[in-house]
Amino acid sequence: MNCPNCKQGRLFPAIPHENFPETGLECDICNGTGILPESYDYLPNKGKALKDERIKEQVHLREASLKQGISAWMLSRKERGYFKKDEKCATNE
Ligand SMILES: [Zn+2]
Repeated sequence: MNCPNCKQGRLFPAIPHENFPETGLECDICNGTGILPESYDYLPNKGKALKDERIKEQVHLREASLKQGISAWMLSRKERGYFKKDEKCATNE
């Protein structure tokens, strides 16, 4: 499937930013290919549930990621709905 995170492999800011390259940045999920890698599951509802839970507990992204022993980037990626299949999922299901 097409990568839902980007436009043909490129990322653009929601709000235009003068220091942001006009060509956008390479997508960190698909590495600029524009195709969601096989190694990812895209589960936006699950990601949103994770985020809602964290917001409810008023925990910052960085704090939550430290608790789970993963990087803030990884947690933010999960909250956007991208779950890597070979990665242990740190949610209580
Ligand atoms: Zn992408």
